[in-house]
Amino acid sequence: MKDLVQPTIPNSQVQIAHVQDFAETWTPQHVLSWAFQTFGRNVAISSAFGAEGMVLIDMASRINRDFRLFTIDTEFLFPETYNLMDRIEEKYGISIERAYSALSPEEQQRAHGEALWSHNPDLCCNLRKVEPLRRKLGELSAWITSIRRDQTSVRSAAKRVEWDAKFGLVKVNPIVDWNSKQVWRYIHDHDVPYNALHDQDYPSIGCTHCTRAVRPGEDPRAGRWPGFNKTECGLHIIEPAAAAAECGD
Ligand code: SF4
Repeated sequence: MKDLVQPTIPNSQVQIAHVQDFAETWTPQHVLSWAFQTFGRNVAISSAFGAEGMVLIDMASRINRDFRLFTIDTEFLFPETYNLMDRIEEKYGISIERAYSALSPEEQQRAHGEALWSHNPDLCCNLRKVEPLRRKLGELSAWITSIRRDQTSVRSAAKRVEWDAKFGLVKVNPIVDWNSKQVWRYIHDHDVPYNALHDQDYPSIGCTHCTRAVRPGEDPRAGRWPGFNKTECGLHIIEPAAAAAECGD
């Protein structure tokens, strides 16, 4: 890994091209080490504190006690999610960086009407997730996500290390080839804290307005934006399309 450490911080597809193939053979821990060595304080984990995100946070804490972690706080999260954030800060001794929409929930209601999520969830996700993320990523040279290829069709081509053309920085996906079983095995083997809603049939957790429990046999993401043909909030889709695709969570 030492030979692969960059003399300067990579800032284009060309500059990460030679690392990409090697990275596909690395363990998640190796990918994280490479990211921390290469980008220093200019890389941060992005998380909405789903099961996958908790795995990454725990792994990172064993490699670099001083890692950066941020979340997009839509101000519509479940109490269980805010409670988990408190537990993370206490257990790992870090302070979670929180990015907010430029509009408070009240300002959004005045500007776009009541319950925007119920009639235009793409606009709501843009205002509360995508734009805050864009601002946050403007501070960074790379971000680390916990997406998995088998979660949605949009994520199926993701690589461990890739150039994020949408936001203009390097994107690192250490557990991109893991499945749900591996995630939960890690959580139980390492006694990792997780969102209490996972034990109440919420495999994927976002905002209160757009998340419900799933029924037996349903797709794990069926509880996200029920009633809409939408599976993502726009954080991980390649094109800045108006109609969104997913969320980091
Ligand atoms: S998940 Fe729902 S409430 Fe949250 S930002 Fe998107 S549309 Fe709005």
